[in-house]
Amino acid sequence: MTQLRTRFPELQEGVPLAPLTTMKIGGDARYFLTVTKREDLVDALRIAREEQIPVFFLGGGSNVLISSQGFAGLVIKNEMRAMRVEGNRIIAESGVILASVIKAAKDNGLVGLAPLHGVPGTFGAAVRGNCGVPQCETGDFVVSAVLLDKNLAYKTVDREYFGYSYRHSHLKESGEIVVEATIELLPGGDPKQIQEEMMIMLKSRKAKQPWGKSGGSFFKNPTREYSAGFLVDQVGGKGMRVGDALVSEMHANFFQNAGHATSEEMQSLASLIKQRVKEQFNIALEEEVEFIEARPSAK
Ligand SMILES: Cc1cc2nc3c(=O)[nH]c(=O)nc-3n(C[C@H](O)[C@H](O)[C@H](O)COP(=O)(O)OP(=O)(O)OC[C@H]3O[C@@H](n4cnc5c(N)ncnc54)[C@H](O)[C@@H]3O)c2cc1C
Repeated sequence: MTQLRTRFPELQEGVPLAPLTTMKIGGDARYFLTVTKREDLVDALRIAREEQIPVFFLGGGSNVLISSQGFAGLVIKNEMRAMRVEGNRIIAESGVILASVIKAAKDNGLVGLAPLHGVPGTFGAAVRGNCGVPQCETGDFVVSAVLLDKNLAYKTVDREYFGYSYRHSHLKESGEIVVEATIELLPGGDPKQIQEEMMIMLKSRKAKQPWGKSGGSFFKNPTREYSAGFLVDQVGGKGMRVGDALVSEMHANFFQNAGHATSEEMQSLASLIKQRVKEQFNIALEEEVEFIEARPSAK
């Protein structure tokens, strides 16, 4: 029997992952644990490593396509949610919902984050993935962060450490976990005005993006000249369907689960589109949404 159960009597087995993602796709997790404290996170990772159990660290599930075969390991759901405001800085644990950080900024008259209003998911994933909109990216505001490295040691790093670029940070290769991050914003804003800006952002988002079960933009924009949505549209992608996996008619870079789509259907649809774009434009589209395979090796 796994030591996970001894240490965490609340450990669950056979938990469906689809409801924990915005695409609503994904089979069952062999083991499932929600963490609210960093000590628990470290213990869970340590035991999983000792027992060679693969781990997937889940935030808000808004940027992942989880295998319909499930996950043959431990899924750790991040609910570490302490947050405080110090002057023009916000220090938040990674499991805080990004929307709560944006709200805290607004309430305290801190300017900068309003354009990100409407982006789902956790603060930690946004810091790791440099989540953003044309006006700004999360990395623009990061001052420092507490990470957990592969040896389960904490380290405090500054912004440069992340090596930020478009939807990317060095953490995507290193596999380090964001435990907490500090962002710095402009002080002296008017909460009412910030709220108005947030509402404008939300309205424009609603006008451009479809509701429904998706993971947001499926592909990264390959160049400044061509957006992924433009390319998918140009190759006749809008409305294309494999089973219940569908390219939105409203926004060609939104791949939707139109019913009971499987990860295989979503991946087949993505392959077809990639093939067409490669043939017609000689551009290799790259997924923004991360595929979580069912049987990864333990690291
Ligand atoms: C409707 C919709 C609109 C969207 N709009 C935008 C947008 O405008 N801009 C944009 O950039 N994105 C957008 N997204 C994508 C998504 O919201 C972001 O990528 C978000 O940051 C993902 O956060 P999450 O907590 O849901 O991450 P998850 O999907 O849970 O995880 C994504 C990856 O991050 C890893 N991860 C999660 N937390 C941590 C952590 N603390 N430390 C290290 N790794 C971690 C996970 O292991 C996984 O590999 C949109 C998504 C949807 C569904």
